[in-house]
Amino acid sequence: MSPTSTPSTRPQLAHLSAQLDDLRARGTYFRLRVLEDEQASVCHYDGREVINLASNNYLGLCNHPKLREAAIAATEKYGVGSGAVRTIAGTMRIHMELEEKIAAFKGVEACVVFQSGFAANAGTVSSILGKEDFILSDELNHASIIDGARLSRAKIKVFRHKDVAHAEELLKEIQNEPGRKLVITDGVFSMDGDIGPVAQLCDLCDKYGAIMMVDDAHASGVLGRNGRGSVDHFGCTQRVDVQVGTLSKAIGALGGYVCGSRDLIDYLYHRARPFLFSTSHPPSVAATCIAAFDLLESEPERIERLWSNTRYFQEQLKIAGFDIGGKTTPASETPITPILIGDGRKTMDFSRALFEQGLMATGIAFPTVPEGKARIRCIMTSEHTRQQIDQALEILTTTAKRLEIL
Ligand SMILES: *Cc1c(COP(=O)(O)O)cnc(C)c1O
Repeated sequence: MSPTSTPSTRPQLAHLSAQLDDLRARGTYFRLRVLEDEQASVCHYDGREVINLASNNYLGLCNHPKLREAAIAATEKYGVGSGAVRTIAGTMRIHMELEEKIAAFKGVEACVVFQSGFAANAGTVSSILGKEDFILSDELNHASIIDGARLSRAKIKVFRHKDVAHAEELLKEIQNEPGRKLVITDGVFSMDGDIGPVAQLCDLCDKYGAIMMVDDAHASGVLGRNGRGSVDHFGCTQRVDVQVGTLSKAIGALGGYVCGSRDLIDYLYHRARPFLFSTSHPPSVAATCIAAFDLLESEPERIERLWSNTRYFQEQLKIAGFDIGGKTTPASETPITPILIGDGRKTMDFSRALFEQGLMATGIAFPTVPEGKARIRCIMTSEHTRQQIDQALEILTTTAKRLEIL
């Protein structure tokens, strides 16, 4: 018998229950879908077999045999936990190897690995600036950048999405202020799949002496030579001061990292709060990531398959008549493929209906995206077969017609 819990009647958190009721009334309340087997292109959520268009497992590395082997071997050799934060006693040889590996891969002096991409962004932005300083941030930048900016207490200036002229206007306004200026953009924007104007923002930073930072979470393993990211894609490695990446998406495991000069990384070792106050990765995770970077070099055909699947899927969606961005929202330039619906409730109903037909594609509504721009977000991977993609298109089309979306 499992223990039963009675609904709480304590009034202390009643405001939370009221907000949940509000979400239910708007039709945007969700339950967590539970994955019952491996993260794969076809898998089981909540007891149903589905074609999976919802994961960030771009290259199928979440369950690659070589990565599994690396994780198991590291567990057998070093155990399951690191036992301390990095600065006390929790820096294992394998953590250093991973950082050296990433720095060499990216062609930079040094790298520091954090527990997640979120921690990397929030920990870095908050520690390299203070309250005299300024942050210029794209309006669609990731939540972890926004949180880091707030924690830094620097003055935050938000520029219109990818609007380099607007960013320059803001820089001009504060040109004579004594504080440092940081310009920050996502390399790939996670909701629309468009690419940040990295090279033009680098020009601005050079012109105004600002620090240039790029968050490459969705570009790591996807863009650039062998998946080196958007900064490499634009040939800007020497002009970006702070490069953030994630180990949680295409790399298939968990973690985030910052690449840059030796002094930047040394500084973060001393000052970044998630690094100082939260325990380092289990050795299995570090070993998995090391093996994943080897694979980016040795199996580039995964990245090629990712892009050819993406081109095919997006072409077919357009032919079917779906709005996949480019009109009222930016056009996707990457495997992230939004299908614009607009209304939040209708989007969530569509997502549920797709699931019942065997397709896992997440509905995303306000506040994750602006009101009126709710969408189904599909993410292609290298592991989807042509047959699976065709079946997904078939389910999307028939369900959309039934719900009068097409
Ligand atoms: C996913 C994501 C992150 C967070 O990465 P995690 O490793 O999952 O914490 C940060 N920035 C962007 C742009 C992301 O898409």
